Amino acid sequence: MSDKKTDVNELGEFGLIDRLTKNVDQKVDSTEFGIGDDAAVITVSDDTSLLVSTDMLIEGVHFNLMYMPLKHLGYKAVAVNVSDICAMNGVAEQITVSIAVSSRFPIEALEELYDGINTACQMYNVDLIGGDTTTSLTGLTISITAIGRAKKKEISYRSGANEFDLLVVTGDLGAAFVGLQVLEREKEVFKANPNIQPDLDGHDYIMERQLKPEARIDVIRFLKELNVVPSAMIDISDGLASEIMHLCKASNVGCRVYDEKLPIDGKTSMTAIEFNLDPVTCALNGGEDYELLFTVKQDDFDKIKGNPHMTVIGHVTDQTDGMYYVDKNGAVIELRAQGWDHFKKD
Ligand code: ADP
Ligand code: MG
Repeated sequence: MSDKKTDVNELGEFGLIDRLTKNVDQKVDSTEFGIGDDAAVITVSDDTSLLVSTDMLIEGVHFNLMYMPLKHLGYKAVAVNVSDICAMNGVAEQITVSIAVSSRFPIEALEELYDGINTACQMYNVDLIGGDTTTSLTGLTISITAIGRAKKKEISYRSGANEFDLLVVTGDLGAAFVGLQVLEREKEVFKANPNIQPDLDGHDYIMERQLKPEARIDVIRFLKELNVVPSAMIDISDGLASEIMHLCKASNVGCRVYDEKLPIDGKTSMTAIEFNLDPVTCALNGGEDYELLFTVKQDDFDKIKGNPHMTVIGHVTDQTDGMYYVDKNGAVIELRAQGWDHFKKD
């Protein structure tokens, strides 16, 4: 190790992963694809592969137990991992769950957590097959690994998008981020005066999007029924802009995204405006929607046209045309990712 000390914030999350994994090589024949997609791909037979993905949630960084009930947290921890398997166009089958807990948590609280984990296992039809349990000095950490399966020829990598393909997103965007703003506001009110009840009326949908996101296993089923294999796919965990950029970079392409096409729920827009936030900015940069972003050949347009779960938001261009979104006035603006600390308050 050299004496030089570089602050991790200098590189950001993705620069850090690149730096740490630059000397990783793959020696084993069954490793079909390692680092760089939503899940790793492992060959198990001529036509089938296993998919493996891991995510870690840390108290105080990814969740705040002041407003996140442990049952919801357990559910969400499973959902975000299943979402990564969906992002490969695969079906999740098993999970392992590892937890580090401080003595602050009574057993009953951890049972709540597992209640949520079990509910999600039922919902997504996955089996909990193992894990690890250890103590932590402070707080709670949950790490889940999901294992899934896909036919080799149906796997959608981030790298498969081609010029002229259509860019599609599922569901609607920005609600989880706006939901978080409401929860943060009520937390501050509660801290100032614990006798005031939280004012969450009318915010059910966006609150649910933050507290109980769903993995889009339904979309993976619809795509199979429609006989559509996305040329590329990624799930939206960090925010649409950042995920579009990952997909385009991995595919060596550019894109045009039209902001008037972005699917934003009416309540999300209204609440964003209440917080002096631009709904389009929330849709582009707010994270944790866990929707899917994918590309399809133009020939597949008729199959997805009018589908209530899928919205065409733009198209893929040549790499030299760059990555841009077009606003309502026709202005062309370069896409920017907010990086790993985009929720950091000044
Ligand atoms: P996602 O947002 O889909 O969960 P990430 O952005 O977390 O994906 O990770 C991108 C890629 O980098 C994945 O292939 C992941 O497995 C890999 N990765 C992340 N952290 C590490 C690490 N510390 N060591 C090795 N690989 C890592
Ligand atoms: Mg992902």
